[in-house]
Amino acid sequence: MNAMERSALVNTSTEGANVNIILIGAQGSGKGTQAALLVQSLGIVHIASGDLFRAASQEQTELGKKIRSYLDKGELVPDEITVQMILNRINKPDCASGGVLLDGFPRTVAQAQALDKGLQGVGQQIDLAIYLQVPREELISRLSGRYICQAHQHVYNIYTNPPKVPGVCDIDGSNLYQRSDDRGEVVEKRLNIFFSETIRLLDYYRAENKLAEVNGKQEIDHVHMEIMKIIKNWDRSPPK
Ligand code: AMP
Repeated sequence: MNAMERSALVNTSTEGANVNIILIGAQGSGKGTQAALLVQSLGIVHIASGDLFRAASQEQTELGKKIRSYLDKGELVPDEITVQMILNRINKPDCASGGVLLDGFPRTVAQAQALDKGLQGVGQQIDLAIYLQVPREELISRLSGRYICQAHQHVYNIYTNPPKVPGVCDIDGSNLYQRSDDRGEVVEKRLNIFFSETIRLLDYYRAENKLAEVNGKQEIDHVHMEIMKIIKNWDRSPPK
């Protein structure tokens, strides 16, 4: 899709619509990239649990240290910390009108249930859950090549999308680094959690008639276009 086509799509989009979306996808599925495009197209608030945890893990507090220990091992942070953190974020004023895009949360059915309950309490609900489907072998190769810029988290892949100068961000010139949890066994562990736990969310949202599946092995723009079509065709009436 060229810039004009994208702009046409965006101009007829659901910009400003009050839609609450969950983006489900394994690590390396392109979830972060698609989230950034959706935020641009729809003007909704992006809430990425991993980003919130990475920021919290830098704090020199007991909670910060505790969170860091889970992140370093590639394990899920316990629900009582996670659910509270996300609900606090959703209750901030910027989320009240335009809708939210949840990325990385929920990751378990228990979290999905807690989210539904928390949203009901403020008269909101999840409208759509979009699953970005990518085979496991592809995910491993994408993750082991992934490097991120220190300044603004721009994402590169040393095999498929390398920077012009090795180790340096094309956009802002900052150094690139590999996330500690994108290496070796930790990648395997995170993918195991996804394919054993998080995948169950598909049944949860399918049963509520809210699930849409997208082939995440296409070009970035095509994936975006498919997601935008799903959102445009989304029926606001509650599931029968
Ligand atoms: P991500 O960037 O989404 O891969 O998340 C990085 C790490 O943050 C994960 O490996 C977990 O340790 C933690 N995390 C992010 N989201 C959640 C969640 N919904 N539940 C529990 N832990 C999470």
